[in-house]
Amino acid sequence: MVKRIGVLALQGDFREHIKAIGKCGVKGIDIRLPAQLDGIEALIIPGGESTTINKLLIKYNFINALDRFNDMGKPIFGTCAGMIMLAKKVVGEEFGLGFIDATVQRNAYGRQIDSFEEYIDLKLNNLKKDKFKAIFIRAPKILEIGENVEVLAKAKNEIVLARQENVIISSFHPELGNDIRIHEYFLSMVNNLKKKREKENVRAF
Ligand code: GLN
Repeated sequence: MVKRIGVLALQGDFREHIKAIGKCGVKGIDIRLPAQLDGIEALIIPGGESTTINKLLIKYNFINALDRFNDMGKPIFGTCAGMIMLAKKVVGEEFGLGFIDATVQRNAYGRQIDSFEEYIDLKLNNLKKDKFKAIFIRAPKILEIGENVEVLAKAKNEIVLARQENVIISSFHPELGNDIRIHEYFLSMVNNLKKKREKENVRAF
């Protein structure tokens, strides 16, 4: 079982993610430099301000290190601004790491005052089926996904949680509130993919 995972701590609400995974019994490590990615099995990219996070990723030389991390099949979870960073296409912007086949649009639900909560159904195998209180803050919208992307939840008829292999995105903030089911799901995925990678490495010898 993975005991520690990284949370990108350049900007945004990384502390809330560290708290949420702490409640799942896993330690969150603040990631502030690309070299720290070598020591971890999975990464969360938090919400915040995507233009700022993008500038800091470039300034601290994270782009190639993140590409390698993703190429190794290590799990990455991007929430809100973090989701924007992981998308293949961001409408009207030059950024987007392209780790998940999704087109997203920033601030597409309106301004700060249009932030909202919605009780949603989660399509996650391992978890209690009660509705999840999803908090949307100047949220980006997922406009389009590729055929390899699995829809895990919808709100207001829009996709709000999706996964492609090792990458998950949510347009809302699962780290706010006390419900840790989505973090638990991510951690189970981290453990499963780690086992799978280890098996593949054994086969490669
Ligand atoms: N609106 C922000 C952006 O585009 C994202 C908001 C959030 O992460 N809560 O960066």
